[in-house]
Amino acid sequence: EALNNIIDIKGSIRVFCRVRPFLPRNRRKNINPISTGLDKMVVKLSGGAKEFEFDKLFQQESSQEDIFAEVEPILTSALDGHNVCVLAYGQTGTGKTYTMDGVNDKPGIVPRALEKLFSHASRDKSSSLTFSMSMLEVYMGNLRDLLAPKPICRAYETSARCSNLSIQTDLKGLVEVEGLMEVQIPDLGKAKWWYNKGRRSRSTSWTNVNETSSRSHCLTRISIVRKWDSDAKTESSKLWMVDLGGSERLLKTGAIGQTLDEGRAINLSLSALGDVIAALRRKRGHVPYRNSKLTQILKDSLGDGSKVLMLAHVSPCEEDVAETVCSLSFATRAR
Ligand code: ADP
Ligand code: MG
Repeated sequence: EALNNIIDIKGSIRVFCRVRPFLPRNRRKNINPISTGLDKMVVKLSGGAKEFEFDKLFQQESSQEDIFAEVEPILTSALDGHNVCVLAYGQTGTGKTYTMDGVNDKPGIVPRALEKLFSHASRDKSSSLTFSMSMLEVYMGNLRDLLAPKPICRAYETSARCSNLSIQTDLKGLVEVEGLMEVQIPDLGKAKWWYNKGRRSRSTSWTNVNETSSRSHCLTRISIVRKWDSDAKTESSKLWMVDLGGSERLLKTGAIGQTLDEGRAINLSLSALGDVIAALRRKRGHVPYRNSKLTQILKDSLGDGSKVLMLAHVSPCEEDVAETVCSLSFATRAR
């Protein structure tokens, strides 16, 4: 509870940064353009150094446990009835999927969050909690259901058949993606089964897996319903965990044709997200939710009463330093 109060005091949007460790394939490990302090990061550039400040900074050697320990309080907020968004942002290859999904023996935020939800539910004596899950992908402004059976929605070639997904906002301002499958998850085993199914259907429908999955946003939603034993009252909230599309700019990669269009779509939706978060932080004025499908879907989980955690990811490598500065500027603007 104490940690929750800290989030309230600090405002509802927090920005963390995680630096990926060097990978075996990275060359020139001896040059390290990034130095990190407790909450400050300094990037050395030819023309001097740039400094960026975060609510929390994770070093190269930070573990999945370290990250989750800092993410946990926001999950508690979701269980307390707040809508919550956890967003992984950054250049392709900086560890967004590693942070959200994790790898075999090093699970990431999503599997750990599921575990936490169920262990919390089993300990709760005064109310009963039920969870359901949806997963979708946003690609070039199209929505694709990742849990729906394959024949309905195999790939974007059949997107006409997938376009039964539409974004609706009710009178209370609650957003619903109509037609999106929502599966009950009665226990952790079922939850992980569905989650893995969604992840597989994200990656198997592409000819060039890395290319396209980095060009789409993958959104996992856990809907939480709490029924109090004492009266008939129920409370619902949503927990979004989002693996955003790669933030890299287009010029460097020499993208053409389809790749260029995909890159533009990603850049547009990411800047729309940045604009929304910046407007929310100013706490007044118009919030431009309508500029992208991504921000329309997340609308009721980004604004009033909700909690947002942006996890910015950067590469430790010299050759990525220009992208790193862009990502850090984006993320600190969000802050
Ligand atoms: P992204 O999703 O941002 O494109 P990935 O999560 O696929 O990046 O990470 C790229 C590669 O780096 C993967 O092989 C991943 O296992 C590895 N990696 C990323 N972050 C870490 C980390 N913190 N520790 C160890 N390996 C990592
Ligand atoms: Mg990824």
